[in-house]
Amino acid sequence: ISAFLLLLAAACGQDASNGNDNDDASSDNDITIGLSVADLTLERWQHDRDIFVDKAEELGAEVLVQSADGEDEKQLSQIQNMLSQGIDVLVIIANNSDALSPVVNQAKEENIPVVAYDRLINNAEIDAYVSFDNERVGEMQAEYLVEQVPAGKYFLLGGAPTDNNAQMFRDGQMNILAPLIENGDIEVVGDQWVEGWSAETAMSIVENALTANENDIDVIVATNDSTAGGAVQALAAQNLAGEVAISGQDADLAAVQRIAEGKQSMTVYKPIQDIAAKNAEVAVQLANGEDTEAEDTVNNGTVDVPFIKLEPIKVSQDNLVDTVIADGFHSFEDVYENVP
Ligand code: BGC
Repeated sequence: ISAFLLLLAAACGQDASNGNDNDDASSDNDITIGLSVADLTLERWQHDRDIFVDKAEELGAEVLVQSADGEDEKQLSQIQNMLSQGIDVLVIIANNSDALSPVVNQAKEENIPVVAYDRLINNAEIDAYVSFDNERVGEMQAEYLVEQVPAGKYFLLGGAPTDNNAQMFRDGQMNILAPLIENGDIEVVGDQWVEGWSAETAMSIVENALTANENDIDVIVATNDSTAGGAVQALAAQNLAGEVAISGQDADLAAVQRIAEGKQSMTVYKPIQDIAAKNAEVAVQLANGEDTEAEDTVNNGTVDVPFIKLEPIKVSQDNLVDTVIADGFHSFEDVYENVP
C-alpha cells in the first residue's frame, strides 16, 4: 500500500523521495528499497531476491524488485523508473559494472543512497559495496584444481567481460596459477570469457576448444556453475565428463548434483543468506542516514567505496553434506536422490 501512496504522492508532485524527511502526517514512514537485479533468469539471483525481500521486510522496509533480464538498457530505464517512484535507497546488482554511472548520478542528485550488491559499479559515487571476497573465490577454484592436477593442460573459461567480478575472480585464479605457468608445470591451451555467463555460450566455447586440442585438456578453470554446466555438457558429448577437472561457483543445485555424481570437481559456496541479509541491513541503515561499517575499501575509479567482504566456502564431494546441505541451501534428497 505504501508503494501506492508513494506513487500517488509522486503523481501529485509531492516530495516522496524520503519518508523520513516527510513530516506530512498522512504519509507513512516506512522505507522503500528499490532492488534492481541484473538477471533473475539465473538460479542464484532468485535466492538472493527472496532472502533480501524477507530480511528487508523483517527490518520494516518494503522492496520494489525489477529484473533487467541481462540487458544494460533495461536496467537503466528500470532504475530511472524506480527513482521516479520515490524510493529511499537503491540497491543494484549490476548487469554491466561500467554502464550505471548515469543513474547513480541521478540518485545522488536526489539524495538517495546507492548500494552495489555483489558486483561493483565503476566510476560512480556509490555508498557501499557488499560482496564476497571475490579474489579469494578465484584462488579457491585454482587451489582445488592444482591439488587435483598439479601439472597439465589448462583451459581458462572466464566470466562475463562486463562484470567487474569476473576480473576479480580471474585475478584470484592467477595468484595461484601464474607461478605454475611460469615454471612450465601448467600449459594454458586456451583462454576465453563467456558473455552473460551463458551456459550455451560456454558449451560451444568448450566444444571448439576440445576440437582444437584433440580432446587433450586436463583442466577447465570454469568461473561459475552456469558456465561449468555448459562445459560439462560439451565434455559429456565426448565421453569426458568426470575425466577433466573443472571448477565452479555458486553451489547451484545442478552443480552440486554434478559434484555428487563426480562430473564437476568443486564449487564455491557463497552463503546467499549472508550477502542478501547484509545488503538489506546496509540499505536500511543508509536510508535511515546511519553510517555503515566496513573494514575494507575498493576504488571504483571515482571513490574509495566501503567494501563489506564476506567469506566464501570451498565445496567438493568431501564437505558437501557439512556445508551446502547442513545450511539447508539444498536438501540431501535433492542433491543425491532427485537427480534428473
Ligand atoms: C556472481 C556469481 C555469479 C555470476 C553470474 C557474478 O557476479 O558473483 O556468483 O555466478 O555473477 O550470475
